[in-house]
Amino acid sequence: MTPPSSARDLRVTGVVQGVGFRPFVHRMALRQGLAGWVRNVAGTVEIHVEGAADALDRFQRDLRLEAPPVARIDTLEAASGTLVGFRGFDIAASEDADGNRPVPPDVATCASCERELFDPADRRYRHPFITCTDCGPRYTVIEALPYDRERTTLGAFEPCPSCAGEYGTPGARRHHAESLACHECGPQLWLESLDGRRWAYNETAVQLAALSLRRGAILAVRGVGGFHLACDATNDVAVRRLRDRKHREAKPLAVMVRTLEAARAIAEVADAEAALLTGPERPIVLLRRRAHAARGGASLATGLAPGLDRVGVMLAYAPLHHLLLEGAGVPLVMTSGNLSDEPIAIGNAEARARLGQIADEFLLHDREILSRVDDSVARVVDGAPLLMRRARGYAPLALRLPVPAPRPLAAVGPHLKNTFTLARDGWAWPSPHIGDLESLDAVAHWKTALARYRDLFRIAPEVAVRDLHPGYLSTRLAEELGLERTIAVQHHHAHVAAVAAEHGVTSTVVGLAFDGTGYGDDGAVWGAETLVADLRGYRRVAQLRYAPLPGGDLAAREPWRAALGYLSLEPGAEASFALAFDGVSENERRIAERQVARGLNAPLASSMGRLFDAAAAVLGVRHRSGFEGQAAAELESLAGERVAHAVAMPVREADGRWVIDPVPMLAELGARRIAGEDVHALAASFHESVALAAAAIAARAAEAHGADTVALGGGSFQNARLLSGVRRRLASCGLRVLVPRLLSPNDGAISYGQAAVAAAVLASE
Ligand code: ZN
Ligand code: ZN
Ligand code: FE
Repeated sequence: MTPPSSARDLRVTGVVQGVGFRPFVHRMALRQGLAGWVRNVAGTVEIHVEGAADALDRFQRDLRLEAPPVARIDTLEAASGTLVGFRGFDIAASEDADGNRPVPPDVATCASCERELFDPADRRYRHPFITCTDCGPRYTVIEALPYDRERTTLGAFEPCPSCAGEYGTPGARRHHAESLACHECGPQLWLESLDGRRWAYNETAVQLAALSLRRGAILAVRGVGGFHLACDATNDVAVRRLRDRKHREAKPLAVMVRTLEAARAIAEVADAEAALLTGPERPIVLLRRRAHAARGGASLATGLAPGLDRVGVMLAYAPLHHLLLEGAGVPLVMTSGNLSDEPIAIGNAEARARLGQIADEFLLHDREILSRVDDSVARVVDGAPLLMRRARGYAPLALRLPVPAPRPLAAVGPHLKNTFTLARDGWAWPSPHIGDLESLDAVAHWKTALARYRDLFRIAPEVAVRDLHPGYLSTRLAEELGLERTIAVQHHHAHVAAVAAEHGVTSTVVGLAFDGTGYGDDGAVWGAETLVADLRGYRRVAQLRYAPLPGGDLAAREPWRAALGYLSLEPGAEASFALAFDGVSENERRIAERQVARGLNAPLASSMGRLFDAAAAVLGVRHRSGFEGQAAAELESLAGERVAHAVAMPVREADGRWVIDPVPMLAELGARRIAGEDVHALAASFHESVALAAAAIAARAAEAHGADTVALGGGSFQNARLLSGVRRRLASCGLRVLVPRLLSPNDGAISYGQAAVAAAVLASE
């Protein structure tokens, strides 16, 4: 080692803990022959290096160039340091302090660990908890920062001498791997029957569990962020039974396979989809399913995603998954371990109590899970990933706020598909997907997750941010926070702000916010809005023609009601709407008509979701839905990529706004369907009609208000054909189009949008 001639102090922020960053720094230092130390200080990494000046430069450059795959360097500050004369390079003890505290998300089993898992010569051969510095559970097991083993749930397992040796060996793959474990010292796995008997452990438990799955059993499997319910995805009877027991009639079930090849056997996988499937986040990816299994593979059960051309597929992301899938030899259904819409179970006792009615057996382990995190869901649209549920692998990463929050914020999020967001200065921490705030369990989960976020990121919110709706549970949760101030943000403004903010845009944009429902500032149901907005405020410049929704919330589950609402506006279109009421009893219809006539329980709505529902009913596709958005998903499947003509929708002006009238378009498509035209072509026409009207109105608004940017937000943009169609048309007008990238287009993004708006409002005061 050349005698040190100069010293340098570096401070690295970003995702730098729990991703093998300190061992990586150690390797880089040894490579350049540098002495000094590296340590975690709260959420940052501090480095002191001594050596030749040019070696220090190379070291600093390599830190950025060669950072571990899941690390993310946000800032790297360097200053000249005091030469102490260190000999050798140390990983020093962690220190706690205040500061920005990134907590790494959970990382899927890396390729090296997967190789060792199936290598009979390796000492971790078939160890269900194999991890290294590059992979393994993180957020779900971290109790507090800085990230060191004793502050994770792995702290309960004393490393054996071999593991301790690897942990302490510079240059080894598990040098400072906080989550390392082996057969000797790691967590235990066991198979448990419903009566609580543990009847097999570890390797035997895996093999017997796989055997049960092959025989059609339903297993509750404890994973990374909670429990899965698993069964053979090629077994129709097992899938049917799982649906019955879980009270989940129609919602698609996700499938897990071990390899990319196995995914290709059941679905078409384009390059961008393969990248998403195999990335360290391992989301569920919606793929076009194959009609027939590839050679040698069994066909997926028909009941996985009824009526849809896509199936949600994910690759194994924990060693236990690899072992289980290898043993079962078939793709497995891996759906959240809960009863219908409740939060997923994470504890063994909780699972026994809540999943005992669903599962035949439990595959359990004793590595505790501290944070409930669902699988993330994504799809590829126009070659780029679109998140539909942001959870494992993504949360708890922070996002930038384009206007820093002058005071710490807690944005409580929406009523359905809830996430919350904490914000401080220029950063926002959106929570993982929490779910619908409609049960006590969900509210308890929300409170626990919020408390954890406050602790982990050390944020003491001073201002609460909530939805405009006075009656939502989330509004009460905001009030219960007891903060000195609460800011209310309109739902669709939050959608538009979320998209603008994640792209760092603070100027005025045209926002298309298309979804099912949000509370409008006129008290009506909004959901097909064109706003001219910046982060601080908005003006509503266009909407869909208001139509009554007989039955209110019930309409989201019964598409015929949306059709009836539109028909009530133009009773002359009765004949064209004839298919909309198949299977609807005289009595049901009469009650709904009376609700419309008297204006009782028939709120006025401008809703894109309900327009899709009405179209599905008018085309005779669906009259009742098992979940919100089912009709829209089916219409998208039917449309496929067929070329089709748009039917223009008239636009008139009222109350200083443009009002788009979809009734003539619905009537025309209905009449053509009755005349025998192909339903696929009509579903495609419907998409084109909506995309054309949306793009035309956005372009008009942009021109009228001198904006050059359009932001697309709201759950309706999970529809790839709609998103793609609107974007293409707007881009061809020379407009810049912002699409959600880091967050979902759906209500999962609302809390971040609320935070972005509140920060801008506070900053402007
Ligand atoms: Zn690994
Ligand atoms: Zn060990
Ligand atoms: Fe929404």
